[in-house]
Amino acid sequence: MELGEIIAASGNAGKIREIEKIFKGVKIIPMHEAGFDEDIEENGSSFRENALIKARTVCERLGRPALADDSGLCVDFLGGAPGIYSARFSGEGDKANRELLLHRMKDAHDRRAHFECAVCLYLPGGRMVFGTGRTEGRILEEERGKHGFGYDSLFFSDDLSKSFGEATEREKNKVSHRARALKDLMEKMALLKLD
Ligand code: IMP
Repeated sequence: MELGEIIAASGNAGKIREIEKIFKGVKIIPMHEAGFDEDIEENGSSFRENALIKARTVCERLGRPALADDSGLCVDFLGGAPGIYSARFSGEGDKANRELLLHRMKDAHDRRAHFECAVCLYLPGGRMVFGTGRTEGRILEEERGKHGFGYDSLFFSDDLSKSFGEATEREKNKVSHRARALKDLMEKMALLKLD
């Protein structure tokens, strides 16, 4: 099957931009541009389940291949939180999420954390392929850098020895959880001859 175009089952501009850069050779169309504007209830209990819910919902509604990313930050000191609740941690958006994280981490000596990502490509007819990836680091005591989105300025990457907020898009895309999940997905697509 030729996959020239895929609908990105996401309204997060930061994610879509990264997916476009990593998923070369395929046109990525944001779901709202393809006519899908609803909120999808992410009621799964894992990144993988939520990625499946989003990709399946959009694919079934539009009748076109859909790709979803579900991702988040897992902090050891917080027992893995905010995890699948990363986007909704404070209930008031990215800036408030970062402030809440700094507050919860104010007495933490163990600052280890990782980002995790599951991607799901869902095809009309019900075939699906998953990819997963993670990237290790630690939570900074204050924000560093202005690049990226979400928790990037608070995440010091072990691979890059700087925060994701200080990294260029190119640097982040070499080591990020999303890049690794998409690479895993592309390898599986090649095995299934879906590329
Ligand atoms: P989702 O849309 O439910 O997958 O929410 C993912 C949330 O996790 C985002 O809103 C961010 O807060 C956070 N997140 C996921 N990936 C990244 C990343 O690459 N950088 C910074 N924050 C991220």
